[in-house]
Amino acid sequence: MSDRADSGEIAVIGAGIVGLACAFHLLGEGHRVRLVERGGVAEGASFGNAGAFAFTDILPLASPGMLLKAPKWLFDPLGPLSIPPRYLPQITPWLIRFWRASLPDRYRHSLVAQGSLMRFAAQAMESMVAAAGLSSHVRRDGNLQLYESEAELAASQPGWDARAKEGVEFEHVRGSRLAELQPGVAPRFVAGTFTPRWQTVDDPHHFALALFQAVMARGAAITHGEVKAVEPAESGVRLRLADGSQLAVGRAILAGGAWSRPLARELGDAIPLETERGYNTTLPPGAFALHRQLTFGGHGFVVTPLSTGIRVGGAVELGGLKAAPNFRRSEVMLRKAAAFLPGLNTEGGTQWMGFRPSLPDSLPVIGTSRASNRVLYAFGHGHLGLTQSAATGRLVADMVAGRTPSITLDPFRPDRF
Ligand SMILES: Cc1cc2nc3c(=O)[nH]c(=O)nc-3n(C[C@H](O)[C@H](O)[C@H](O)COP(=O)(O)OP(=O)(O)OC[C@H]3O[C@@H](n4cnc5c(N)ncnc54)[C@H](O)[C@@H]3O)c2cc1C
Repeated sequence: MSDRADSGEIAVIGAGIVGLACAFHLLGEGHRVRLVERGGVAEGASFGNAGAFAFTDILPLASPGMLLKAPKWLFDPLGPLSIPPRYLPQITPWLIRFWRASLPDRYRHSLVAQGSLMRFAAQAMESMVAAAGLSSHVRRDGNLQLYESEAELAASQPGWDARAKEGVEFEHVRGSRLAELQPGVAPRFVAGTFTPRWQTVDDPHHFALALFQAVMARGAAITHGEVKAVEPAESGVRLRLADGSQLAVGRAILAGGAWSRPLARELGDAIPLETERGYNTTLPPGAFALHRQLTFGGHGFVVTPLSTGIRVGGAVELGGLKAAPNFRRSEVMLRKAAAFLPGLNTEGGTQWMGFRPSLPDSLPVIGTSRASNRVLYAFGHGHLGLTQSAATGRLVADMVAGRTPSITLDPFRPDRF
């Protein structure tokens, strides 16, 4: 590949949902944009996630409640949260930061930041969906979280109270109302919480590909290759690619998901990005008459109705980027789903594992590199990258334009650790 130089162009490194949303917003403001992607478009975490616009999911994972649940979960090697022993030495510094982020004052800080980003995310997604012509990909039928006892519901109440303070609407349901929202749930689930503002997409990969088409229709270019180094120069930024070629651009946005850490480190930003690996199985369409997405919070997984089937999955495995997937995790969740939804046909599924890009305080990194304000970061959205993609695109466009961003970016600064 030959070298290219265009000092007016903005390179977006990574064509996952976050990079695509950044590209869409920058193109909308008249910038020339080049995506740089080493694999297929949206074939990282954005490929097979649970498809939720989880606007009401504002409770940081790093929370006092999680610290109580974690030991029990960790005891079960195939449970909702696991750390493969060989990865423990690498993940320990991240875990210490996670623990610190769970302390009450920091938790409260992250919660308020997440609440403000999510309120903005809901607006920004509505606008992007309309402007990119993606409405037909969105289902607006909410989420139903299920509980196995009144005690489990009562234990979740402080979280609902915190959400209520941030303006989240919800309805606790039982009996016929629960059955109306989702018939066919096993009777062990005695209560639920319905969040009407939650949305899902028809399929996250289809949604991202439709956004990619909109980005290309707005005039973006794409280079297929792996960025090995990002080097700010006096009047722009040089990207060195794995094949030896170079791209000289005016600015670069690093949106490389779980793989962003080494490029940021080379720029002098030590960002404690890790991956929370997640698993699922997608069953053929018709495997269950699912009315909306269901969350089995006590078991760490969701069941999502997609146009491409019924997706059962979740779980967190703090196992790094290199180890092979352990699909027994997908199987465990599928077996539980069959018990929770009698009548679920578990035949013919496809298993998947994806790398959530996660920071210890459950907030993304959105801001400029210490090396140069021509390099911007947009990664680390953890469980919520699809939900927060449009908001991140808008905030990146604000920064590039030199405008006061639509919400304060302080909690998302790259140098906050
Ligand atoms: C099981 C599971 C369920 C989830 N459910 C939800 C959900 O319901 N709702 C939600 O909002 N979020 C969900 N998430 C999280 C969501 O999938 C991620 O936060 C989001 O996809 C991250 O998007 P991204 O664009 O940052 O990263 P990715 O989609 O991983 O994209 C990063 C891209 O960058 C490319 N790249 C990286 N480094 C380089 C380089 N050096 N050069 C060139 N290209 C590079 C990669 O190839 C990749 O294509 C879930 C995740 C998992 C695993």
